[in-house]
Amino acid sequence: LPVEITATPLVGDGGQGAVVCFRDVAERALVEEMKRHFISAVSHELRTPLSAIRGSLEMLADGDAGALPPPALELVSMGERGAQRLGRLVDDIIDVERLSTGEFDVVARPEPLEPLLRSTVATMRPLAEQHGVRIEVGEVAGDALCDADRVVQALVNLVGNAVKFTPPGAAVHVSAETRGAEVMVTVRDEGRGIPEEDLDRVFDRFHQVHVPESRDLGGTGLGLTITKSIVQRHGGKIWLTSVLGAGSTFRFTLPAAAPPASDRDAARRLA
Ligand code: ADP
Repeated sequence: LPVEITATPLVGDGGQGAVVCFRDVAERALVEEMKRHFISAVSHELRTPLSAIRGSLEMLADGDAGALPPPALELVSMGERGAQRLGRLVDDIIDVERLSTGEFDVVARPEPLEPLLRSTVATMRPLAEQHGVRIEVGEVAGDALCDADRVVQALVNLVGNAVKFTPPGAAVHVSAETRGAEVMVTVRDEGRGIPEEDLDRVFDRFHQVHVPESRDLGGTGLGLTITKSIVQRHGGKIWLTSVLGAGSTFRFTLPAAAPPASDRDAARRLA
């Protein structure tokens, strides 16, 4: 039975005491569960019509229905951007669901981090250039026992955020080091930072830091939830430090791999 316990100390003239409150949260947990299932079911249902929309818009843009005048092309491209964003949201929701139910394969093998980090950063450079942000890869040392595709997904989320929330002209730094039995990857930015009260909550589903004057940066609020699940499925930890107005540093650990002996044999499925 899920029970939430809260305690408030009472200190007064008559001595000391405390109020302890036990609350049955079974119903709340059930509602949460239903909400999750509903969102996930709807997301799966959205995939087919969404790909029809994207396909049609792409054909219109390619002139398959005849040449379109520039204002019409502009409308088509707005539609494409919206459909793309909805597609990302749907994919993220489905990933979160898969990660939380465990039906998300994590197949770990020894991976040298240097090429993994560098190639991931290379794919992020166009986005960084768009934002006028530099990405610098510092020292990278070590091999991790990990699922490369999943780690790339986690890195893309972290570096993507770092770029998104960093002003033009500033830099994002990526590095990795081996510390005993684990490797630690660091993504540091010189961006707007995260307020203290949001530090834990940024990993929660759909949580986005409220910034009144912020432009719409097109996120889903699920990237860090997915990243945290990926790291945890590897047996690693993820945490962050941040100074408001100066930048944030995200760090995560993965198990270190001994230098690859025979890669194939070393592959193993993580629970
Ligand atoms: P989103 O898709 O909105 O980026 P995430 O789960 O990746 O979702 O991040 C959640 C929120 O955490 C973001 O909307 C943003 O408010 C905050 N955040 C994440 N990374 C950074 C960062 N490097 N600098 C400042 N804020 C960040």
